[in-house]
Amino acid sequence: MFPFGEAHELDFGRLLIQRANGGRLLLPVAPCMLRLTQRVVLVDAGLDPGLADRVEGVEWQRPVRDLAAQLEALGLTLDDVGDVVLTHLHDDHGGGVFDRRREAPVFPNARLHVQELALWQGLDRAARGGERFVSPVLLDWLLQTPQAVHHHGDWRLCDELAVTHTGGHTPGHQIALAG
Ligand SMILES: [Zn+2]
Repeated sequence: MFPFGEAHELDFGRLLIQRANGGRLLLPVAPCMLRLTQRVVLVDAGLDPGLADRVEGVEWQRPVRDLAAQLEALGLTLDDVGDVVLTHLHDDHGGGVFDRRREAPVFPNARLHVQELALWQGLDRAARGGERFVSPVLLDWLLQTPQAVHHHGDWRLCDELAVTHTGGHTPGHQIALAG
């Protein structure tokens, strides 16, 4: 149970990834919505809703309802999201903040919290052609939008939520912790 407000897992479908060894990986994409006392927070944002088949060998099995419909069922709209904590910038976690087809932010009123290390590491990898799952379009947009808040290490969103820079899965990886 979440100690403050409510926590809801959102359904962004599944990614079917063809691996080089012939195997296949099925990855659920499930951002989390936290309704805290003063604000609505997403931890990760799922996939770019305008996603074309950018990555070869990856198929997106769409959810039954899109994100807007899932939030509506909880009495919310995309405009109500005040903060998005991006754990890292792989497409299945960070891609959902920017709609590439409309060239517009998905959450127009949200601050988008990212470790600066994640941006620079993503750009560095993309420049060397080595990052398949981070969109250069997303990186460029996060570097110029006033919605993005860049963090260095641990930080606190509010009394109810702290964020810790863990590294690990990616060098700029961060996690949100209640309390
Ligand atoms: Zn990842």
